[in-house]
Amino acid sequence: SAEAYQLHAFFFPVMAQGHLIPFVDLARLFSSHGVKVTIITTPLNARRFSNTIERDKQLGLDISVQLIPFPSEEAGLPQGYENVGSFPNFPAVISKFFNSLSLFQQPFEDLLQEHRPNFVVADVFFPWVTDVSAKLGIPSLIFDATCFFSLCVSDSFTRYTPHENIKSETDTFVVPGLPDKIELTRSQLIDDLKKPTHLSKMMERIRESEGRSFGILVNSFYELEPAYADHYRKVIGRKAWHVGPVSFSNRDIADKSERGNRASIDEHVWLKWLDSKKPNSVLYVSFGSVARFTAAQVLEIAMGIEASGQSFIWVLRLKDEDSKQRITEDFEDFEKKIEGRGLIIRDWAPQMLFLDHPAVGGFVTHCGWNSTMESLSAGVPMITWPLFAEQFYNEKLVTQVLKVGVSVGAMEYQTIGGEKAIVKREDIKNAVEQLMGGGEEAEQMRSRARELKEKAERALEEGGSSYANVTALIEELKLHPRPAI
Ligand code: UDP
Repeated sequence: SAEAYQLHAFFFPVMAQGHLIPFVDLARLFSSHGVKVTIITTPLNARRFSNTIERDKQLGLDISVQLIPFPSEEAGLPQGYENVGSFPNFPAVISKFFNSLSLFQQPFEDLLQEHRPNFVVADVFFPWVTDVSAKLGIPSLIFDATCFFSLCVSDSFTRYTPHENIKSETDTFVVPGLPDKIELTRSQLIDDLKKPTHLSKMMERIRESEGRSFGILVNSFYELEPAYADHYRKVIGRKAWHVGPVSFSNRDIADKSERGNRASIDEHVWLKWLDSKKPNSVLYVSFGSVARFTAAQVLEIAMGIEASGQSFIWVLRLKDEDSKQRITEDFEDFEKKIEGRGLIIRDWAPQMLFLDHPAVGGFVTHCGWNSTMESLSAGVPMITWPLFAEQFYNEKLVTQVLKVGVSVGAMEYQTIGGEKAIVKREDIKNAVEQLMGGGEEAEQMRSRARELKEKAERALEEGGSSYANVTALIEELKLHPRPAI
């Protein structure tokens, strides 16, 4: 019977923390629903979560890892450049990295042949998986590590070209065909929409493969963005399952201080520090796993938060050695002044634990979807500061649709680790005061965020919308003919 046999899935994330982390969460989610999951990744990336997988195994979760060596030589990349977050010089190597992804096709196909899983969940950046799996009669789903809202905005740009009729980079235009009136500027758009880039072909293949796949998985829940979930399914006409927030699947299981990477601050230190602060009084400042700032931008942030007088935790990553050297006297002076009031973490923070702590009352975020979703799931309102990819779209969801955030006013799409000090200290100070200053509007944002947290929790409980989507998907996959061995 359909009940009797255990489904086996291949999960295949692209090698970037913002994809690996939710994929591992998703693996836990599916395995807690009885699916055997094999994660396919490279040796260095596997090491980043091997401890938590070991622990999960002891808890009875059936998750294992299959390795494909990273083809450094063929890709023309130095050894160790196996993860987007580990590139010291981003622009020079990023296209090589993305080009190298097609080199995974043959080894992946070999693994599929050998193991014949019942289904595949592949990263959006491996669009060829759809065809490779179809050849063997294996249904493949795409995990698009973003929200329905941004999927709908991206889709709009494939049908309409409002940005082409706008002369100035900074004039706003309305994104056509969406449930709400959403405005953007040309300067906030993905480069690819304005001129062909190394990603253009890939983006086209991604769109095609999404249409031909079994469907897509979205790290969201219905109640968060019902109009956009409906728009995506009914108007755009794509098959999608909302299965989030996937981060909840690691709430009770994994050691969260090791999520993605080992935290570079001792738990006793930060916990004692946060415990000593009043509820909702601390601002958490972090820009994801990839972004790095120049010395000039770092100084603006420092001066902005200092002037706001707010307590804060800041995860600081600098662009390069040169920037590190240029952080000189000014910054030392700043560090002295903020002693006790600010905690600076260099490298990796246990983000989920911070967001869940009652003292944390605001998150300055680049609006990477994982960070955004984690903030929403913790009931923490945001200061939005998008940098690249679909982050400018996510910002609109947060500030205009959900109304749980204040925009810092970033107007310019940046290559990762942008060159300039784009956002000025006054703008940072103003946004912090607006969100953390106890004004009525901010309090409304806070209470809306709290409501969303409750809805997020309900979504993944038995009977909740995401729970129901996961079980429905598994039932549907069980009815699919089993691949022949
Ligand atoms: N993250 C973390 N500690 C850090 C930086 C990031 O735990 O110091 C995690 C964060 O919780 C999120 C992911 O890394 O799950 C970053 O994904 P996101 O989509 O926010 O941004 P990206 O890194 O893809 O730009």
